[in-house]
Amino acid sequence: MRQVSGHYINGQFVEPNSGAYFESTDPYDGDEWIEIPRGNAEDVREAVESARYAVFEGEWSNATASQRGNYLSQIADRVEAKADELIDCEIRDTGRPKNEISGAIRALPAWYRYYAGLANKIQGETIPNDGTAEVYTRKEPVGVVGAITPWNASTMLATWKLAPAIAAGASVVLKPDERASAAVLTLASAIDETGLPNGAVNVVTGFGEEIGSPLVTHDSVDKVSFTGGPKTGATIAEQAGRNLKPTVMELGGKSPNIVFGDANLNNAAEGVIDGIFNAAGQFCAAGSRVLVQDEIHDEFVDELVNKADGLVLGNPRDEVTDMGPLASQAQFTQIDQYVTKAQEAGARLEYGGGPPETTLASDLFYEPTILSDVDPDSTLAQEEVFGPVLAVIKFSTESEAVRIANQTDFGLVAGIWTGDAQRGPRLSTKIRAGTVWINTYRMIGPQYPWGGVKHSGWGRENGKSAVDEFLETKTVFMEYGETGAE
Ligand code: NAD
Repeated sequence: MRQVSGHYINGQFVEPNSGAYFESTDPYDGDEWIEIPRGNAEDVREAVESARYAVFEGEWSNATASQRGNYLSQIADRVEAKADELIDCEIRDTGRPKNEISGAIRALPAWYRYYAGLANKIQGETIPNDGTAEVYTRKEPVGVVGAITPWNASTMLATWKLAPAIAAGASVVLKPDERASAAVLTLASAIDETGLPNGAVNVVTGFGEEIGSPLVTHDSVDKVSFTGGPKTGATIAEQAGRNLKPTVMELGGKSPNIVFGDANLNNAAEGVIDGIFNAAGQFCAAGSRVLVQDEIHDEFVDELVNKADGLVLGNPRDEVTDMGPLASQAQFTQIDQYVTKAQEAGARLEYGGGPPETTLASDLFYEPTILSDVDPDSTLAQEEVFGPVLAVIKFSTESEAVRIANQTDFGLVAGIWTGDAQRGPRLSTKIRAGTVWINTYRMIGPQYPWGGVKHSGWGRENGKSAVDEFLETKTVFMEYGETGAE
């Protein structure tokens, strides 16, 4: 079994203070393939101290904006060079198929390059003064960022925090999820190879309850940026609030795809299928509800079943695989319970509903599952399943579709499928979500702001405004007087 070289603290890979490691398991073959350092509060303290020194006193605090941009460009190059290793780590940790993980990893350099370009375009403003002062604002790094990320797309979600934070000149202590830390430590080694000043980026691995809380509550952490589930988010927001720390929260979703009778039904069905069964539904933007107009309901459900039947379940390393195993037994059990309860509540099973009949290497495979006649108020339509389960809900009018779409606590993303050029933009103003896609789904990029409303979170990642999350504004007044020396 491989063992990673340690936490990444102050520019070094170091042994955990406890000396303890834990295994990470490949969900496809059950192989405990790598040992990860089990961090404790002492490791967190060392990482935060190193980050604090870096951002306020050390070499990092003196790096110019253009130098920060240069580091980001170099990180992009190093990530590109390590892409195969990163892809391998993520497949082993999550079971996500190679064809989708490869795309995500090969896109990462674009994020670092986008923020490389932004780094020396961060600027304040000059403000008119009614007296004899020159008044201007400076944009300064927020200080130390405590970043916590989930397992489902570990290096992508880490990148969404690291790249803008580096552009802003902040320093980061990142805690990846315990189920998917290997790829993030590989990312740390890519960053290390650029010679980024010590302490600007630190990675401490371990369990949420053991190191998450010490990180969130540490006096020297100035801002918390969290991506994960709403329950954990609420705990972290409460702890951060009690310690008067601002937060960014990127949480879950119960996102709707709304399909109107006038849509191109083949495109819509492809978008809906990809939107829920990609990553076996284990991603925040999963389109887990599909709202279908009554006039096309039966025909469209048949088309969804057809397409679900064509998905290939298998070894995530095979290029042809569409769906790998679920990431863990806990995921499997939770998803299966949702499906059973939905049927008890009156939903009709159209496809799937359990493990596939064909023999596969792992017991963690779950069929793509489609349930129709789902009550919009039922548990299946309200709670995030985080698995390959699609809830079909019928509607008749545009206003009913909007009402059902908004009828959950979440508000991350939504898809609208229609042939009416005015309907999409009209509905996009009424749907409460951070992103609305019209006749497409899952389009993301470094330049497009990302985030949620309601219980899907607050604050934005990606786009120009993500840098603002890691900056403070300082106002400077410079009195020059009525007259000078004549
Ligand atoms: P999770 O909330 O269980 O874990 C996320 C992180 O929080 C992990 O690093 C975990 O170790 C840590 N953690 C757990 N308990 C903690 C505590 N008490 N204090 C501090 N940290 C703690 O989430 P998950 O199961 O890994 O991820 C799935 C969730 O993430 C889903 O809800 C999904 O929708 C959401 N997600 C959101 C986005 C987004 O951009 N909005 C992206 C990906 C995933």
